[in-house]
Amino acid sequence: MAEQRIPPTPNNFAVWFHYFVGDHDDLRHAVDLLIDHNRPFDNRTNQDLFETYIAPDADVVALETSERLHALMGTAKEFLATAIADNHSQMQAISNVADQSQAGVDPRALVAQLMNELARAATRATQLEAGFAEKTRELDVIRDSLSKSEERARTDTLTGLANRRALDEFLRKAQATAEWGEPLSVLMLDIDHFKTFNDNFGHGVGDQVLRLMAKVLRDKVRKHDLPARYGGEELIAVMPDADLGACADIAERIRRSIAECTITRRSTGEVLPNITVSIGVAQYRTDEAIADLIERCDRALYLAKGGGRNRVVTENELDRAWAAG
Ligand code: GH3
Ligand code: MG
Ligand code: MG
Repeated sequence: MAEQRIPPTPNNFAVWFHYFVGDHDDLRHAVDLLIDHNRPFDNRTNQDLFETYIAPDADVVALETSERLHALMGTAKEFLATAIADNHSQMQAISNVADQSQAGVDPRALVAQLMNELARAATRATQLEAGFAEKTRELDVIRDSLSKSEERARTDTLTGLANRRALDEFLRKAQATAEWGEPLSVLMLDIDHFKTFNDNFGHGVGDQVLRLMAKVLRDKVRKHDLPARYGGEELIAVMPDADLGACADIAERIRRSIAECTITRRSTGEVLPNITVSIGVAQYRTDEAIADLIERCDRALYLAKGGGRNRVVTENELDRAWAAG
């Protein structure tokens, strides 16, 4: 941690403890990528790592839910036992009546006894039904809170996009499909001169801009693509079933749409300078590691930066840039 100049806070300790223990593959992979790419472990990155890989596991909702589920199962078991016992005692009562009728007991007394048994059975059944209905409602609440907590663990809080954890998972699945010959492409987007924008207008306005970029990305990708927050101000979209050309077309639409956005400061209505983004695009190659795909996409993105920003560059241009020396 000292080597990476990471402040010794409890959250950072948790991140690096799990990194060294090696029990979180996704975390290990993310940190290794950051180190490989010489990315600084600034406060935002540290916080992202904690929120994405550590915090979800300590999800209080999940713990509470598990306790509530246990209690609910206990009650349901009791209900079932009562229902079985009731059924048993009713069968017994009916069998008694049958015996008595054979023994020549007055039929009116037997009918009264049967009616009595049936009335008791009906009351118990109604009570049980109400109990089951209540427990079913409780189960619905638990199911909702579980799926919300699952959703939170996979969502970036600032942008509402998928976070790194969800991204890694999606990429792994998409890679498996791509190995069958389906194309798979990614685009990576980075805001141009964002540091200056933050410096001039404040981090809060910067955050609003980041949210707006996320919205454009979400609106422009196709239904089965995954838009996600890759890092601080870097967004990514994974596009199964899209080749380089198709992905580059969508990237170009995103770039243009962002460049044409008019951004106004909410508090004052002041019109802010236009924001632009640079985008790199790459397509998966059979048998390669996902990290290699991302790395090519990243290099295309930096070529876009070097070429003057506000542009889309595909990995094809990497080869040309390399050939041109
Ligand atoms: P370039 O065109 O080369 O990308 O320039 P840049 O200034 O965007 O690049 P640099 O990597 O130097 O700066 C990235 C900036 O993004 C610095 C950081 O403050 C800002 N940033 C990263 N994450 C967030 C965030 O969540 N909110 C805000 N407001 N700013 C962020
Ligand atoms: Mg950047
Ligand atoms: Mg930038």
